[in-house]
Amino acid sequence: MNPLIIANWKMNPVTLKEAERLFGTVKKEIEEVEGVEVVVCPPFAYLPKIISLAGDLAIGAQNCFYQEKGAYTGEVSPLMLKDLGCQYIIVGHSERRKYFQETDEGVNNKLKIVLKNLLKPILCIGEEARDAFNSSGRPVNEMSLVVGEQLAKDLNGISASRVVEITIAYEPIWAIGTGLPCLSDDAMKAVLFIRKTLTNLYNRSVAERVRILYGGSVTSQNVIDYVKGINMNGVLVGAASLNASEFAKIVKRAI
Ligand code: PEP
Repeated sequence: MNPLIIANWKMNPVTLKEAERLFGTVKKEIEEVEGVEVVVCPPFAYLPKIISLAGDLAIGAQNCFYQEKGAYTGEVSPLMLKDLGCQYIIVGHSERRKYFQETDEGVNNKLKIVLKNLLKPILCIGEEARDAFNSSGRPVNEMSLVVGEQLAKDLNGISASRVVEITIAYEPIWAIGTGLPCLSDDAMKAVLFIRKTLTNLYNRSVAERVRILYGGSVTSQNVIDYVKGINMNGVLVGAASLNASEFAKIVKRAI
C-alpha cells in the first residue's frame, strides 16, 4: 500500500491568491512523484478553486456536519463536499474537539454520514498529555486510556465492512504544532495499541487493513522515522504543509 500524506492547511492562508500559489507550487513539485498518495485539505472557502486546479491530486475537507441538509446555519453538508469533488474528510481533529466542543458522539455521527455518502473519512484521535498522573501521583498510560475510549465511542455502530474505509490518524495533542514530535517508539506503541483495539472491536483482518497515520510536528527531517522506521501508513502534516518545498520534501521522503 502506498504511503498516504495528508496536508491539513487548517485556517490558512488568508487569501485565495496565496492558497492558489501554495497549491500550484506543491502540485508542480510533486507532479512526477509516484508511489505515494497525497491529499490536500484546504479551508472550505477555497475548495471549489483548488479542486478546479487539482488534476490527479486528491482534495479533502477539514470537517463537515453530520446531517445532509436543513436548518443548520453555518454548517457544511457532506453532500455539498461530495458534489464539489472532495474525496476525503477529516473528522474529529483535536482542534475541533477542543474549540468546538466536538464529542465522541458527534464524531461518530460524522463518520457515519461520511461513510454513507461514500467519502473517505480520516479519523483523528490522540491523548492530550504526554505525562499523565492519577490522583495518587502514579503515572498512567494516557495514550491507551484516551485512544481506547475514543475508538470504542467514535466507531460505535460502524460495521467491519465499512470501518476498513476509515483512515485513522494518531495525533497526540501534545505533539501538534509544538515542534515536539512523538518518539517513533511511542508512535509504534500507539499503532500496536490501535490495531489491538480494532482486533477486539472487530477482528484481526479488519485491524490489519485499516490505515494508520501519525500526525504531530512532522517535518522532512522526521517523516522517515514514521513511514519507514516503524512502517506507519503515512503522516498527517499541519504547519509544514504551508511551506510548499518542505511539504514536497516530506512527500518525496515518504516513498
Ligand atoms: C495537525 O494539524 O493535525 C498537525 C499534525 O499539525 P502539525 O503538523 O502542525 O503539528
